[in-house]
Amino acid sequence: MESWSQRDLKYIWHPCSQMKDYETLPPMVIDHGKGVYLYDTEGKRYVDVISSWWCNLLGHCNPVINAAIKKQVDELEHVIFANFSNKRAIELCEKLINVVPKGLCKFNFSDNGSAAVECALKMSFQYYYQTGKPNKKRFITLTDAYHGETVGALSVGGVDLYSEIYRPMLMDVVRVQAPDCYRCPYGKTRGNCCCECFAEAEKTFEQYGHDACAMIVEPLLQGSAGMKIYPPLYLKKLRKLCDEYDVILIADEIATGYGRTGKMFAFDHAGVAPDIMCLSKGLTGGYMPMSITVTTQKIYDAFYDDYNTGKAFMHSHTYSGNPLACSAANAVLDILSDGKVLENANKNAVYFNALLNEKFSSVKNVGEIRSIGLINAIELVKDPISKTPFDPKLRIGYQIYKKALQKGVILRPLGDVIYFNPPLIIERDTLDFVTDIAKECVTEVLNS
Ligand SMILES: *Cc1c(COP(=O)(O)O)cnc(C)c1O
Repeated sequence: MESWSQRDLKYIWHPCSQMKDYETLPPMVIDHGKGVYLYDTEGKRYVDVISSWWCNLLGHCNPVINAAIKKQVDELEHVIFANFSNKRAIELCEKLINVVPKGLCKFNFSDNGSAAVECALKMSFQYYYQTGKPNKKRFITLTDAYHGETVGALSVGGVDLYSEIYRPMLMDVVRVQAPDCYRCPYGKTRGNCCCECFAEAEKTFEQYGHDACAMIVEPLLQGSAGMKIYPPLYLKKLRKLCDEYDVILIADEIATGYGRTGKMFAFDHAGVAPDIMCLSKGLTGGYMPMSITVTTQKIYDAFYDDYNTGKAFMHSHTYSGNPLACSAANAVLDILSDGKVLENANKNAVYFNALLNEKFSSVKNVGEIRSIGLINAIELVKDPISKTPFDPKLRIGYQIYKKALQKGVILRPLGDVIYFNPPLIIERDTLDFVTDIAKECVTEVLNS
């Protein structure tokens, strides 16, 4: 009998993978999960420190979410969302309105993060088209951004690894040099600066702001870029700048939302609100593919008119508002509603960051240990003084990934940035274990 992974490789083309790599390390076939643990078909246990691609929020097979979905599946699995609605979607908006930044009040449903970004881009473009400023067509974005894989989302992204090949297919966008706090060109340190680098945004807006419809950002944390973290002041300034030039500010909170940065949304740290916010990943606790593009009354109103004016937002996805996904999303908000999960996660975040500093600061190739909420990242460099990276061909991160798997921890470095983005419910003894294993793997790989 062939193994599960042999059967897998016969047919499955895995995402974001060089399939040939699976010759030496076949895909891990997971049998079941519980809490922060995943179990493979041989019964071996792994700590899911990457929250199954940053989406699992409250543990695998969470009893409350499981119960909500089971109840819903016997009532209604899906129904068309144009001209029709369902109770779970309505309840979800009634709950979300209490937690999203002030001013955001209209909810447009899609079924994955990239789709939510596409929706935000089209919405921004159309907004100016029908409010008398059809010249405002450009999108402004940060370098090193990640907003998903579909053509529009990839266009506003800036991670070459994912987008370079497709350049000829992509929209022409304007890029602002993103903050880079580890290698700050102004010689400042994160959180102890006036965001001098914001001058780059001001320069770009001077040139292109008048023709721009929207600026999209991953607030505070450029995840795929290697968990690059920048201060809330940057968002505050960006809010002001967008207002000055009448540019819609889109917050891609797909990775940062739902408590990942220590507050419900990353924008909450800045005390300002975006005009459009994209949600996915934690939205359903990592259970079901769903996303929402949330916007203001003002933007919504620009689309609201008699049918024959042609102002409607003619945008849809088959699975918009799926009741099963909404039932999971409702359960997630119920669990988070008394604030205890987040409070506890924030206490553990302090503990975790201290632990990593204690264990890793003496490791010679550690360039920076940075953190926000429970997310921690360790950037490994060839030379910490000059901050020179390792040759990417050495695939240091990938070697660490393989070693950690053997030892029961799922680390999935971004290049040479080892990061931890665990479910919010992870406990201290698990953090101890994960830190020890990470240290072992990093030292073994660096010494080999
Ligand atoms: C994951 C992610 C996306 C894309 O979401 P998908 O569901 O994978 O399409 C977009 N933006 C950010 C910041 C993300 O982390």
